[in-house]
Amino acid sequence: MKILLADDSKTNLAFTTNCLIKLGHEVIPVTSGLQALEAFKQTPPDLVILDVVMEGVNGFETAKKIREVNTKNWIPIIFLSANVDDESIKEGIDAGGDDYITKPFSETTLASKIKAMQRIADMRQELIDTSNQLERLSSIDTLTGLYNRFQFERSLAQVIAASERHNRLMGLMFIDLDNFKLINDTFGHHMGDLLLIEVATRLKNCLRTEDFIARIGGDEFTVFFSDVESAENIGQVAQKMLDMLSIDFYLEKHNIRIGASIGIACFPSHGTTKENLLKHADMAMYHAKAMGRNNYQYFNEELNDKYRQHINIEYALKFALERNEMSLTYQPIYDITRHIIVGLEVLACWDHQKYGLVSPSIFIPIAEETGMITTIGNWVLRNACEQAKKWNLDQYENFKIAINLSSHQLLQKDFFEMVVDILNYTQLAPHSLELELTETIIMGHRTDVFKNVINKLHNFGISIAIDDFGTGYSSLTRLKHLSIDTLKIDQSFVQDVMTDPNSAIIVNCLIALGKNLGLKVIAEGIETEEQLNFLKSIDCLYGQGYLFSKPINAENMDVFLKKLMLTKEND
Ligand code: C2E
Ligand code: CA
Ligand code: CA
Repeated sequence: MKILLADDSKTNLAFTTNCLIKLGHEVIPVTSGLQALEAFKQTPPDLVILDVVMEGVNGFETAKKIREVNTKNWIPIIFLSANVDDESIKEGIDAGGDDYITKPFSETTLASKIKAMQRIADMRQELIDTSNQLERLSSIDTLTGLYNRFQFERSLAQVIAASERHNRLMGLMFIDLDNFKLINDTFGHHMGDLLLIEVATRLKNCLRTEDFIARIGGDEFTVFFSDVESAENIGQVAQKMLDMLSIDFYLEKHNIRIGASIGIACFPSHGTTKENLLKHADMAMYHAKAMGRNNYQYFNEELNDKYRQHINIEYALKFALERNEMSLTYQPIYDITRHIIVGLEVLACWDHQKYGLVSPSIFIPIAEETGMITTIGNWVLRNACEQAKKWNLDQYENFKIAINLSSHQLLQKDFFEMVVDILNYTQLAPHSLELELTETIIMGHRTDVFKNVINKLHNFGISIAIDDFGTGYSSLTRLKHLSIDTLKIDQSFVQDVMTDPNSAIIVNCLIALGKNLGLKVIAEGIETEEQLNFLKSIDCLYGQGYLFSKPINAENMDVFLKKLMLTKEND
């Protein structure tokens, strides 16, 4: 067995380790609760033995934390303690422990206790295997009561065969909830489960009894319609589902809003095999996501082309940096009341010999999917800082160069150290750098890790901005706990302020909110004088957009800045 052993007394640790090795076990010895937790996260052992009395995090607290990080399978925990009274037994079992060994102990006691634990662990594993097997054999998804993936695939094969025989039109629908992961991470798995159950009920209510609905994965549902008159009928059902899901869910005193993206593929026009139909419905679903979520799309041959294009771009992107195809463009950010430049946003730009200029909105998501974003992002960071130093931007107190970051970059182990390195190397002052993170990154998963890095960067003097603000699922209380300096209001709201009263209200609220939190607020994507005037009228102080300037390459920015400096000197 692989045994994780924590004891802060080095002598005891050596003694027990020796015993365990003699008994033929593999041991990971550590000297504190925190180390035990780290080691546990890295490679989950088969058994944990914890000394109860330890400096810092004691054995009970360590057990509790282990149970928190590992909820899926139960790894047995045994406590070592010199005095085992009623109260501590209760506390230990409540903390998630399984047994006690009283110190001092003999090798025989240790061996027997481990044997007993092994027996229980084996039985538990057997139970898990059997229940998994049962689920495979059964046809029902235990959470929602809908059919499960196995049954779905079996039935789909049958219905395709029948449709072929009877020359019937059949439709397949692929439904994926939008931002489900975010809700799961924000409110916890329990709420996620409740939501899935509610969603399943609402979806089912949109169907006839002969339609077949299944949950085939976390937040993925599939439906097939065995005999339909036309493809349009399926679209109507999809719209009905979207309408039903757009009504707020009220779960345990929380109002939760969710949307879905739906892809549709029909037999025989979009595919004649199970694999093809599923793949095409899935592609159509991804297309719906790309179209801004919360909508439905039919499969079409163009999507196949897009898919191929995606693969080509993914391949070409691998060589973009080494072939010098990447460059940076800079979009000025203005103090809109005084009409002076207060910063530049750096945007990556890719010019490929065959595909021409590829927009970041196309290649950044691909770079994120494939993990290439860390290399590209780090390159952007280094180059932008070098350029900013060349332009001497840090001689101005309130001037910032703003760089977009992706979540993958923040998750790099030494991200903070790397940024510090770049600043040292380029000699750029930290106050000149602003890092933009999207709201979804900050509010999404791994918040603890992000919070940590964000705080470090902030304390070092670097500004932190939340990008595309208003589009994510933010909770104000969480915003308050982060070291943020700037909010960038998403351009979709700014562009609609004159035509959509809702957008105007939202922008107004976001600006008030930013002010309340003491943040700098920048409106993105200002294209017209009317929008600018409206923003000024509601006390928005900063903005960027085509009305002022499009992103400009380094050469032209050079000229632009020189002119600017000249006018400054002449002032
Ligand atoms: P973003 O951070 O929201 O950047 C603003 C985008 O809006 C840019 O598009 C910019 O050219 C565009 N824009 C600026 N003013 C206007 C306007 O008045 N009207 C309209 N319609 N658009 C305007 P771009 O360059 O295509 O970048 C798209 C997105 O790609 C960026 O959105 C950002 O999320 C991402 N991105 C770009 N460069 C990088 C990078 O170096 N690293 C990372 N991680 N992401 C990047
Ligand atoms: Ca940005
Ligand atoms: Ca933005």
